[in-house]
Parts: sequence; structure tokens; C-alpha cells
Amino acid sequence: MLRTRFAPSPTGYMHIGNLRTALYGYLLARRHEGAFVLRIEDTDQARLVEGAVKVIFDTLRTAGISHDEGPDVGGEYGPYVQSERKEIYLSHANELISQGKAYRCFCGKERLDTLVDKRGIAKYDKHCLGIKPEESKRKADAGEPYVIRQLIPDGETSFQDIVYGEIKVSHSDLDDMILIKSDGMPTYNFANVVDDHLMGITHVVRGNEYLSSTPKYNLLYEAFGWELPTYIHLPLINNESGEKLSKRHGDASFEDLLKEGYLPEAVVNYIALLGWSPKSDREIYSLEELCQVFDLDGLNKSPSIFDKVKLAWMNGEYFKKMDPGKFYELAEETLKNSVKAPQVDLKKVAAMVQTRINFLHEIPPIVDFIDNIPEFPPDLVVHKKMKTDIPISLENLKNAYASLETLKDYSDAAVHLRLFSLIAELGVKNSQVLWPVRTALSGKPTSPCGGTELCALLGKDETLKRIQKSIEMLEKHVQSLAR
Ligand code: GLU
Repeated sequence: MLRTRFAPSPTGYMHIGNLRTALYGYLLARRHEGAFVLRIEDTDQARLVEGAVKVIFDTLRTAGISHDEGPDVGGEYGPYVQSERKEIYLSHANELISQGKAYRCFCGKERLDTLVDKRGIAKYDKHCLGIKPEESKRKADAGEPYVIRQLIPDGETSFQDIVYGEIKVSHSDLDDMILIKSDGMPTYNFANVVDDHLMGITHVVRGNEYLSSTPKYNLLYEAFGWELPTYIHLPLINNESGEKLSKRHGDASFEDLLKEGYLPEAVVNYIALLGWSPKSDREIYSLEELCQVFDLDGLNKSPSIFDKVKLAWMNGEYFKKMDPGKFYELAEETLKNSVKAPQVDLKKVAAMVQTRINFLHEIPPIVDFIDNIPEFPPDLVVHKKMKTDIPISLENLKNAYASLETLKDYSDAAVHLRLFSLIAELGVKNSQVLWPVRTALSGKPTSPCGGTELCALLGKDETLKRIQKSIEMLEKHVQSLAR
């Protein structure tokens, strides 16, 4: 069975790249009916951040990414937590010592600080490998502080990565890395390998910053006699300036994006396509659909650019296809803050704006005319293409007023019927009546719907009041021209 995992270190926020790693691991497991495991890699106790595990949990839940197993916490699966598995790593490290594949190192910081290889990179010189096993044990038993190091044998290793192909390294470039620190805690590098094996992980999906450490991990697999997993190292995600996406550069985390008004499902869809391409031009995929189509062939090797303009467009697409009831739920607060006119049906306003926005915060300036119609210049009642003038628009407005004044039913359909019969009666173009009416009701060159819908939305009293006000304004204007 295919098994993947997401193994975040609890940093306190969810970097978009990490969420993508989680997503790809999840999609791969779902696509192949495998299992997806969540493991918190918190062995670096100095860098623990309070509440960080909750951020991971909440993010994954909001993104719809669920894991399949783990310790029972209040009726649901918790994550596996490395700091609770300390003994497991220590016993594995001791096993390697007994086989001569790892050794205790008693060197102090001062000595270590002086050790660099010919490239100037810190590299341990295997000094403590010279200590006889009995002596090493005696020193440890006497309480001398030590770390356990992996013994990198001479030679060369190569391995296959699904994204990067064959990677070859000479062991002389690899450091005898620390497996167990002096506080008895494992390093990330060691715990990660032991857990991936013990948890039966078949496919390791992670960022490409681990590509260069992977040969060392593979030597650990070899030392234990374990089977290697399939590696899928993901290329970087860059921001628009071509820098690696990071909080340090002020780039948004998943949480920040939600605060900025992006929908979780749009973000998930967008990041699925950051580094993976489906076999078609289609861009909108729900999480369920991604679970059906995600495959390793579509992974790209080149870094992807996190393009917020594209993400904003995708957000708008998600609003467009959202169930109207759900959209109303999301938009209700914004609508209530923007439209106070009691006769206006906010559900109708919601329906008008649903297809016109990328963000909820774009709603207020679209609907502000409902409560307060702005002053507008007289020539706004003449559409550029109408080939008419202000007096003609004024005349048509007066006719519209007379027609609508006697109308009782102010539904969109009834207003529509009435205005279209007026248009037929006058023998004018539709726009010659509808444009001035729409302008008189909205005071804007664009509005979220046409004139007849606006009449229905505002109701009879407000409609007539606004048309009358425009008539007066236009009359004054025409008179001033005549003088
Ligand atoms: N704990 C590592 C991180 O947060 C995980 C790397 C891996 O997936 O192997 O980057």
C-alpha cells in the first residue's frame, strides 16, 4: 500500500510551500487509495513555538487535508509527535553503535568550531572514531557529555528522485552527521529516517532543500538494512520578484491569505497547480477532483512563481461557482454593513455581486449607491453609443416615470414588461430608456445589474424618487444651456 506523510516542524505558521508538500502527499495517497500520515517533527526543543501544532492542525483541516491514522486524541486521530518517541531513536542509534556504523563523539564546541573542510564548510574530522568502543562506553557511563554520529563510509552513492532524476554524491562530501544530541534528543535527520521506516512510508514528498541530505539518509537505511522509499523532492516556490517564498520576505502564509480574503478551496486549487500540471488546460479543480487526477508525471522541475493576480482570479471563479446560499452566508456581514435600506432584499444584492467580485471586500463600493446615490454629471444619462443627447434622455426618463408610477407590481419581470412596452410604444432603442433609468437609479456608469432589476431592488418609492430627482437635475441643466 502506498503511504505518504507530512512531517512539519512546528514553526507557528504554515508556509505555502509546506502546505503544498502536505497537499501533494495527501493527493498521492488518495489517488492510490493509500494512507496519509501526519507527524510533528519537534525534536529541536530550542525552536519550539507555543500553539504551533494547533496552527498545523487547523490549517490542514481548513484546507480539507485529513490524515488517516495516529494516536487517539478525543475521538480523532492526533499526529505522531517525535518528542514523545525519544526512546525509539536512542535505541536505534545504539544499535548502529554496536554494529560500528555510528560512534559517540565527545568533542566540545570549541574544537568543533575550528573544523571545516577544504570548501570552508563545517565538517567533522572523525576524531572520536579513534576512541576504542570500551573507552567510549566508559566515558559515556561516567557521564561525559557526547553526541552520537553516523559513520559515513568511503565511497559514492546515487539515488533516483522522481522530480530530479539520478543524484550522485561522493561520500567525501558528506559529514558524519549527529544522530542523537547531547540532551538525548534525536536530530531531525535521524528521527525522520527512523520514523519514515517505522511508519512504513513508501513515498517521501518534501521540499528540495532536503535533496542534498538524502544521500546521508540513504546510508542510514542501508546501515539498518531497510528498503529505501521513493523520493519526490519538490522545487521551490518563488515570489514575483524571483526570491524564495518566505515569511522573511513578507510573503503570505496560508493564514495570511485567508485573512486577505482568499477562500481556502481557491488557495488549495491554486497551490496544487504550483509545480504540478494536469494533462489538460483546465485550471479549476476541487480537492476531490484533484484526488482523482493527481499524478507524479505532472510534477515540474523548475521553480514556480506564486502569482497573486492569478490567485485572485481563481478566488473569483470560486465565488462564481459557489452555492448562492453559501455565498450569502459568507457575504452577509459585509452586505449588512454596506446596505441599510430596509426595503432592499440582501439576498438579491448578494446574487448581483456574486459573479462580480474576487474578494468580499470588493462588495461595498459596488453596492454603496443603494443607500446613497452619488451626485452624477448630466451627460452620464447619455450612453456614448446611443447617438442621442441629454434632452432626449430627459424625455425618456419622464416617460419612464409616468409608466412606472402607475405600476403596482415591482417585480423585475413586471418592470421589465412595462418598460419594454414603453420602448415599443415610443419606437426607440432599448438603451435609450434603460440606460437613463439605470443611471438615475445608480448614479454610476456601471452597476451590478440592469435598470429593471434596480427598480425591483429599490422598490417603487425609491425608484420614483430617484428618477424624479434626475429629471429635476437634468431640467436645470437643459435650462442653463438654453440661457
Ligand atoms: N520537518 C521537516 C520540515 O518541516 C520535514 C522534512 C521532510 O518532510 O522530510 O521541513
